[in-house]
Parts: sequence; structure tokens; C-alpha cells
Amino acid sequence: MTEPALRPLFHFDNSYARDLPGLAVPWQPRRVDAPSLLWFNRALAEELQLDAEALAGERGAAIFGGNEVPEGATPIAQAYAGHQFGGFSPSLGDGRALLLGEVLDRHGRRRDIAFKGSGPTPFSRGGDGRAAVGPVLREVIIGEALQALGIPTTRALAAVATGEPVFREGTLPGAVLTRVAASHLRVGTFQFFAARGDIDKLRLLADHAIARHDPQLAGDPDRYMGLLRAVAERQAALIARWMHVGFIHGVMNTDNMTISGESIDFGPCAFMEAHDPDAVFSSIDTHGRYAYANQPLIARWNLARLAEALLPLVDADDPQRAVAGATDVIDSFPALYDRHWLTGARAKLGLARGDDGDQALADDWLALLQSQAVDHTLAWRYLADAADGDGPKLQALFEDARPLHEWLARWRARAQAESSMPAQRAAAMRRASPLYIARNHHVEDALRAASADGNLQPLHALLAVLAQPFDERPGLEAYAMPAPPEVTAHYRTFCGT
Ligand code: AMP
Ligand code: MG
Repeated sequence: MTEPALRPLFHFDNSYARDLPGLAVPWQPRRVDAPSLLWFNRALAEELQLDAEALAGERGAAIFGGNEVPEGATPIAQAYAGHQFGGFSPSLGDGRALLLGEVLDRHGRRRDIAFKGSGPTPFSRGGDGRAAVGPVLREVIIGEALQALGIPTTRALAAVATGEPVFREGTLPGAVLTRVAASHLRVGTFQFFAARGDIDKLRLLADHAIARHDPQLAGDPDRYMGLLRAVAERQAALIARWMHVGFIHGVMNTDNMTISGESIDFGPCAFMEAHDPDAVFSSIDTHGRYAYANQPLIARWNLARLAEALLPLVDADDPQRAVAGATDVIDSFPALYDRHWLTGARAKLGLARGDDGDQALADDWLALLQSQAVDHTLAWRYLADAADGDGPKLQALFEDARPLHEWLARWRARAQAESSMPAQRAAAMRRASPLYIARNHHVEDALRAASADGNLQPLHALLAVLAQPFDERPGLEAYAMPAPPEVTAHYRTFCGT
């Protein structure tokens, strides 16, 4: 037995379990045979005001493996529905996840602490409720990578090996992920209650979401439309950020889209190498629904599903007005997204001022990358170096340099209108375009070593690289380089199930 702690390890304040009865099922994590910590996010633990020291060892393994439910936790399985690849499932829910509770972080922000892979729940629908080491560590890597890139994301607090097998195509070592999120409210959470016509619970949920993510709207008679607008704004900003680092989520079902605007459930995700609007890596996305260039369109589609779910709350007396208002928000999403995207593109182009031609300049740059299958990340990064005089590196990425030079001439002419010096501009561009992304072959190597050999060294090395994606460091050249094309051509990612 472990000694009881003198002070609580967590300071839980579980508003979802307390204030929203009937929106979740109280449930307990399954006990596991031999929990051992694969990874613990000490910095995040400290940010969450947890007792990081006490959690970093065996006690952490027991808690984050699910064998010891910490004092103050009220574990629940949350109900949600979702459109998966366009088809509606009215009842998904936490089939292998549990919300342990909420804490206030060092900045006073409420954060969820949740398990994934913690055993079956009433929502499991025949699934085993478990997760394997590989997909759990993929979520660790991608969450940390996005975080370091400054992109809103759920993050891993811990990964624990269970010491038990899980059965997929073959036998794999099992694991439990502990995930931290601004909340686990999804578009699908609203769909769950809307689909049942349970308007009281829907309203309870929407008011909870507003209190949590948009408190300035509380009490506003138009608050539900305000919530829709706020989610649209956050998702437009998020997807634009993904696009600028070549991130492909892989499974943008409505249950995998948050109200908070954080990235979540990026199971079969990948960072693109050669710039390609049609890039798809997920093994289950056979029709390319969630291809790179489709992501803003899918975000809009998902928002329309949220709008439908919220409609009964918006204007019960005047449904026509409610529909018109919601349609407005959905129709304005492309322009909202374009605005966020252009702001990001200007930063990557080193343009602090706005000019009417900037959109075309950015579009033509990406078309150029596409036409010669140039690596998205290196092209942007070496463009920053070219602003500083180092042109040959950029040119070496292109088979045919002529269209590059034509484009560079336009870009240099445009940059004349800027007041910054080239060196300043290059430095700013390097802060907008990372050198190190989670390259698929490195991710795979790290996962394979951890999963097959229990070797965590490649994982730790990769995480250290990704923690500072913008800072070039000697000795890390291999992490910056794309995989050989024949590797990328066959790269597939798989869901964590
Ligand atoms: P995800 O693919 O993780 O977004 O999950 C989609 C839905 O399937 C959610 O309702 C999950 O809880 C459920 N699910 C996924 N994997 C499992 C599993 N191994 N056991 C039970 N439910 C699962
Ligand atoms: Mg999901």
C-alpha cells in the first residue's frame, strides 16, 4: 500500500459532474496488472498545481493507470453523439475514456483531467475500452508538438503502460493516456441531447459551455447564437493554424471537434511533407473526406451540425429567425477562416503590413510548392532564410528554379513596402515557420521502439526536438529532413482503437 499523502495531490473542482446530472454516467477506471509510467509531463503537472513530485513515480503510475482514484475525483463517462465520416451516430460517448475531474490551473483556468484507455463503460458498444502504447504515445507526441508550435491543443499529462496486452490486428502492449483539456465539450455533446429532443439538458449544457468558455455571454438573451459565433471564431483560428504547419487531423468527426477551440482526438493524424492539398494519411479515410485542403470545409460542415443542435434554444418563438441567424454564422465562416489564414500567411511571408495582393502572393507560393512537390515545412523555413540572404538552400528544394525566381522577385518587390530590415524580417519569419515538425518516420521510429522494445529513448529525443520547433540547433539535422519519398508514399496512420 502507498502511504496516504499529507496534502491532496489534486485540487479537484468538478463542475461537470456536480452541475450537470444526467449528462454523464459515474464510472470507475478498470484496474490494471502492472502500471508503470512511460512518460510524465512534469511542467504541465506544475501548471495544473498538482503535486508533481509525488506523482512522478510509482504513485503516479498507480493513479494514471487507474488503480488508485485520487481523493476528490468523481470519474464520469460523458455522453456524446457524432457524425462519423458524415454518418450520424446518436450514441457514442466515452467508450474508453473517463473524465476524472477538473482543476484550476496556475492561471485560474479550468482544465479537465481525463483518461483514455481506462476500460469499458456503458458507452463501449462492444469495444474493449482499452488503448495501446503506440497510439497513446502518438497522442503524447502530437499534443506536445502542437503546443510548442503555439497551436491550441489538448495535451498529455501522463502515459502509463498497463502491463497487459490489447488485442487488435495482433497483440499489442496496453496503455492509459491521461489527457488535459480546456474541456471535453464537443459538437457531438450537443448533438446527443438535440437528437433526443431533450431541450432542458441541451440548455443546461449550453449554459455550462458559455460559463466555461464564453462567460461574457452569460445572461445575454442572444447567448446561444453568441456561443455558435464564438465556436466558429475559435475553429477558424485553429484550422488556419493547422494549415500553416501542414497538419492533417485525420478524423474531423463532429465528436472530435471541441467547443473550446483546442485540437482533440488526433488519432490518425500526420504532418504533411510535400505540399499537397489532397494529402491524406489515415488508413480509414478512403475517400479523402479529411484531406488537408478539406479541413476548413469540414470545420464549416461540423459547425452547421452544431448550429442545428443549438437551434431549439435560439429562438423558440421564431424558428425562421433562428435559422436565418445560424445560417449567417455558417455562411460567414469561409471569410472568417480566410482572414485568419491570411494573417498567418503574412507572418510567414514576413509581411507586417497588409496589401491587397498578399492573398494571391501566398496562394501562388503554395501552388508553386505543389507543382514541384516541395516539402511544405522546409520551403517556408528556407524562405525565411532567403529573406536573410541564404537563397541556395531554398533553391535546392526545387527541380525547376525558374518559377521560383519569378515568384521571389514578386515577393521581394512586395517586401520593399515593409519598414523592417531583412534580418529582422527573417527572424520574424523563423518564428512563424518551424524547422522541426513531428515527421512521420521519426514518430513511427519512436513508437516502434517504445512499443516493441520498451525503449523510450527515441521518444524522449523526439520530444526534446519538438519542444523548440523554431530554434535551429546543431546536430538535429536529421529531424528537420523529410523521409525518403518512397516512405512517405506508403505512410498510413491508424486510429487508436
Ligand atoms: P475515437 O475514434 O477515439 O474518436 O472514438 C470514437 C468513439 O468510439 C468514441 O465513442 C469512443 O469512446 C469509441 N471507442 C473507440 N475505441 C474504443 C474501444 N477500444 N473501446 C470502446 N469504445 C471505443
Ligand atoms: Mg473521439
